[in-house]
Parts: sequence; C-alpha cells; structure tokens
Amino acid sequence: MKTMSIADNIARIETEIAAACRRVGRPRESVQLMAVSKAHPAASIAEAFACGIRLFGENRVQEYAAKQPALQAAGMFADPQPAAFHCIGPLQTNKAARAAEIFDAVDSVDSLHLAQRLDQAALSAGKRLPILIEIKLSPEPSKHGLAPDAAELRQLLECLPEFKNLHMRGLMTIPPYADDLEQARPYFRRLRELRDSLAQRYSSLAFDELSMGMSHDFSVAIEEGSTLARVGTAIFGARSPV
Ligand SMILES: *Cc1c(COP(=O)(O)O)cnc(C)c1O
Repeated sequence: MKTMSIADNIARIETEIAAACRRVGRPRESVQLMAVSKAHPAASIAEAFACGIRLFGENRVQEYAAKQPALQAAGMFADPQPAAFHCIGPLQTNKAARAAEIFDAVDSVDSLHLAQRLDQAALSAGKRLPILIEIKLSPEPSKHGLAPDAAELRQLLECLPEFKNLHMRGLMTIPPYADDLEQARPYFRRLRELRDSLAQRYSSLAFDELSMGMSHDFSVAIEEGSTLARVGTAIFGARSPV
C-alpha cells in the first residue's frame, strides 16, 4: 500500500474543502482548516506547518506544553505568520490557568465554572482569550458539552459579556460517529440553527465561528456552514494508542 505523505494529505483535503465550498456557493476563505495534532510528534506538526497550515488543535494541556519547545525550535512561532494552537479537548478547571497561558484559544468551553476560571486566568496571563462553547447535540454519555436547552448554557451566555478577558467567538460540536455521512448532516444543521437563534437572542455576543466536521465528515459539515474543520487522522494518519 502506498503511504501518503502529510503534504499529499493536505493537498487532497484542500481539494475536498474547495469542492464542498463550491457545491454550496461559499467562498473558500470562509472555512479554515485546523490540523488536529494530538498524539502526533512535533516533527509531523512542523511538516504540516511547512505545507502552510497555521491553525492546530490539541486536546491535552500537558501534551501540548511538552511539545511546545520543539515547535518553537522549528520556528513555528517566529514566522511572520505564526502557528496558533487551540485547546479542543475536555478541560478540567484545575488546568484552566495553564491552558489560558499556553493556548491561543479554548474551543471546548463546556461549563460556566470553566469560563469563570478561564476569564481569571486570561487576566493573569495578560491576554484576551478567544473561546468557543461546546454544544452536545446527542445524548451519548461520552460526549462533552452543554445541551442546547440546558439552563447552564443560558447562564453562561448571560455571564459572558461580564467576562472581559474572554472573547466569545462561536460554537463547537462533535456529532455521534456515523459511517453514513448523511446521518451526521442533521447535527451540523442543528448547530447552525442553534447559532442563528442564539445570535439573535444574545446580540452583544459574536457567534461567527462554527467548529464542526472531522476527518470523515468535514465535507458535509462545510456544506452545512462549518467555518472550522478539525481534521486529524486524514492529515497525520492514525493515532497510535497512548
Ligand atoms: C481528535 C479530534 C478531532 C480530529 O478527529 P479525526 O477523526 O482524527 O479527524 C477533531 N475534534 C476533536 C474535538 C478531537 O478531539
């Protein structure tokens, strides 16, 4: 079997993103490709960077902190267009301070308490931290996030204007895995509709970003309005079990 390089993979995904945009009449620039680099070494991340990728997703504070020196040594933060790393995994509140320091954004905010902690931590770190709220659209217990009808989601959205060190940017979701892509589509559509209704109701907050779609379903997610495709396996190959 011929193994595809990271560069080959990125080129193929770029073609698929452009095709999905074309099918629904969206400009290519309306979607960003995030390379999800968890469980992959700094050398692979630097390879993706060399192919033009500037946005990366990691799901563990410690893992990213450990890789950072090597990424720095590879020049990824000194470039005129430096790399940005978002936290996309479940974040315990006791790791919020470190996460706010090292990540450029937290895309997996799933509680009011976590948002409070990140706000304090961003103040200490002297930055305004972009965040996404993670929404749980299916009842699977393994999924994180706030349900669309959760009282805590409303409380969080009401508190966010007071969290001056956070910059609300939008919503993120992970739908249940389905082999049939059309089974994922209704979840992506629901996130977009939820975004539209929340944006009307909480008009002082920004909901521009819709982070949805992974390796197997990003094309469908883009057709349904994704602005941020989180792609791991299709770029870096299978993750070896930790
Ligand atoms: C691991 C992960 C991804 C990437 O998944 P792939 O199927 O490897 O593309 C995307 N989003 C989140 C939140 C993840 O944890």
